[in-house]
Amino acid sequence: MARTDETESAVDCVIVGGGPAGLTAATYLRRFHRSVVVIDDGRSRASWIPTTHNCPGFPRGVSGNELLERLRLQATEYGACLVRATVELIQQAGKDWVVGSADRQWRTHALILATGVEDILPSLSADESTDALSKGLLRLCAICDGYEATDCRIGVIGPLEDALAHACFLRAFSADVTAIPTAAGEASAEAMQRSQHLQIATLPPLRTLSFADAHAHVLDQAGGRHRFDTVYVAMGAPGRVSLAQQLGLSTGTKGELVTDDAMQTALPGVYAIGDVVTDLNQISVAFGHAAIAATAIHRRLPVSPRP
Ligand SMILES: Cc1cc2nc3c(=O)[nH]c(=O)nc-3n(C[C@H](O)[C@H](O)[C@H](O)COP(=O)(O)OP(=O)(O)OC[C@H]3O[C@@H](n4cnc5c(N)ncnc54)[C@H](O)[C@@H]3O)c2cc1C
Repeated sequence: MARTDETESAVDCVIVGGGPAGLTAATYLRRFHRSVVVIDDGRSRASWIPTTHNCPGFPRGVSGNELLERLRLQATEYGACLVRATVELIQQAGKDWVVGSADRQWRTHALILATGVEDILPSLSADESTDALSKGLLRLCAICDGYEATDCRIGVIGPLEDALAHACFLRAFSADVTAIPTAAGEASAEAMQRSQHLQIATLPPLRTLSFADAHAHVLDQAGGRHRFDTVYVAMGAPGRVSLAQQLGLSTGTKGELVTDDAMQTALPGVYAIGDVVTDLNQISVAFGHAAIAATAIHRRLPVSPRP
């Protein structure tokens, strides 16, 4: 890791991740007159949202990219420094932290990990999945957009237990919900009973998924062909926790980073917010985490009196 003179003076807070969580924390911290660097490598899940309709304050919806642009504008207008880079290394340096990309490094008094999660998707090219997501043929979050799938013919792809759990959730939105397992296998008796009670059909395991004629097309391993208005993916979304693991932080049962009520991890001065700490992957949750962590950091750092 190259050294630069930025290591000479520490900033108050480095935020790794410039999605809704990291950018909101940056705005809060700047408005507390704290120096902030946000380092982001441009893979926010929010950039996949065609239009979110449950983000507070946008009664007619907003695209994920427009929301990110507005959050970046808000943070930079208050003086946050946004850097496009991948953080590769974090090391403790006395009471501070040194955060490094391939060619730069920053020294900081506090650290926020807002690195999000990585969706596991069915076998599709990047172009196919981006296109299908933009058209609402492929969906990743029933809490986000189950409403938009109301009364649609819905398929749910995932390991059988997960596919059934998501299918049950989606039954509140449609009478026509089918679980599409990714592999042969059995689900728990409880999941089977519940899904039967809710009249959820289960197909043989998935062979291929494709999109044409404004529909999702599923070919199952028994040769059956099925057409859906939209398909949800329930294949998991592990947290991007490799930096936290470098610091020796352990993860919870679902792979999430564990924090206290102030969003602080087991390491004093290191906070984690947004999707990486919760399975309620929502923009409004990310905003809330950001407000809590930023305020806790401001209170934790020494007061620097206005001259
Ligand atoms: C298709 C889709 C639709 C959705 N719809 C909705 C909706 O309608 N309503 C809703 O509330 N939520 C919705 N969500 C969820 C929402 O996008 C997430 O909850 C939100 O983006 C979480 O914000 P975050 O900042 O925690 O993570 P992210 O937005 O994922 O941001 C994490 C950032 O960290 C960066 N990063 C990670 N590791 C590093 C590193 N080592 N170095 C530098 N940068 C790094 C990534 O590049 C990324 O930019 C949807 C998600 C998807 C995929």
